[in-house]
Amino acid sequence: MSFIAERMQKIKISPTIAVSQAAAALRASGEDVIDLGLGEPDFETPAHIIEAAHQAALAGKTRYTAPGGTAELKAAISLKFKRENNLNYDANEICVGNGAKQVIFNALMATVEQGDEVIIIAPYFVSYPDMVLMMGGRPKVITTETDNKFKLTPAMLEAEITSQTRWLFLNIPSNPAGTIYNREELAALGAVLEKHPHVLILSDEIYEHIIFDNIAFVSFVEACPSLRDHTLVINGVSKAYAMTGWRIGYAAGPAWLIKTMSTVQSQSTSNASSISQAAAVSALTGPQALVKIFSEAFEQRRNLVVDGIASIEQLTMVKPEGAFYAFINCEALMGGHLPDGSLITNDAQISTYLLKQAKVATVPGVAYGKSPFFRISTATSESILSEAITRIDTEVQQITLAKR
Ligand code: PMP
Repeated sequence: MSFIAERMQKIKISPTIAVSQAAAALRASGEDVIDLGLGEPDFETPAHIIEAAHQAALAGKTRYTAPGGTAELKAAISLKFKRENNLNYDANEICVGNGAKQVIFNALMATVEQGDEVIIIAPYFVSYPDMVLMMGGRPKVITTETDNKFKLTPAMLEAEITSQTRWLFLNIPSNPAGTIYNREELAALGAVLEKHPHVLILSDEIYEHIIFDNIAFVSFVEACPSLRDHTLVINGVSKAYAMTGWRIGYAAGPAWLIKTMSTVQSQSTSNASSISQAAAVSALTGPQALVKIFSEAFEQRRNLVVDGIASIEQLTMVKPEGAFYAFINCEALMGGHLPDGSLITNDAQISTYLLKQAKVATVPGVAYGKSPFFRISTATSESILSEAITRIDTEVQQITLAKR
């Protein structure tokens, strides 16, 4: 007899967290492991933000807040949308949760009925399908390809929309591929969506500030203003301000949806931490220069990894335009043999091999719905990344390739 709920039968622990746990276990046993599994900036949270949290605690901001967030934080978020995205959202169109992840969870909880379909673009953020499944929804995965830089096209989207479609999930820039859509590409997707007003759009823009090659970020709603009231924009402070542990994410969207999401929040964690909310106000309203400095560091690391992978004949990758990951194609290794003689048939074998032999933790493409690939996080120092690439290269050279 199992006490575990039916809805949990298809759910697994987040693969990125699982990889990091495996890496930590190996490290605890004395191995020199480089963990490129989890995606979080290695920078410290800027000191002025920590100071604001300290002052907030001393000033007595130590109690429950409104479920959807403090008035101060909503005002700061409203200001951010105006300043950075040219968008106007009032306080009743904004809510705050314990990280963008919880905000997405609340949105699905508020809207998804049994059997509703949610369109997800592969390679996708690992948590999207499992969150949908947890709500009794059905992930409908559209797989994108390297030759179109992993982009969804209007025709691909049109073909997948049914009367059961509740949401389309977009992620710009994307995790794991760093895909960005320009204004025209977004408008073309918007033209399809305008014909299907029963479909809501979730635009996860958490990597907005980590964007390279002087590309200008365009929010989905900025490109498709007529879809404003059908769109939930997701963002947060985790990635831009090196604040993953503070757990503050937020959403902007139609008032009816924000209100329902806040009700969900009120019956789960009540609210995000009052101290973290005060810190987020400081992040969003304080000096912004560091955000650019972080992004430039991520761009240099991206360049280092792109060059490093280009020097390994068996591996290829599409140059990411944003976020801090490299999604590496290992197709050339399929059908080959590991040094122990075993036949390589999937990317999970490659990640396991690299962890065991190179002592580098990577996440296999299967976790993102796209094989055969593996993802490395580039949110670590250039010296560690160089060492990791050298180790990966050494071990990949030990693989006997299939004769083609
Ligand atoms: N969306 C995407 C695409 C992400 O990659 C992540 C974090 N890995 C999140 C949301 C969650 O961010 P948060 O820390 O705000 O929960």
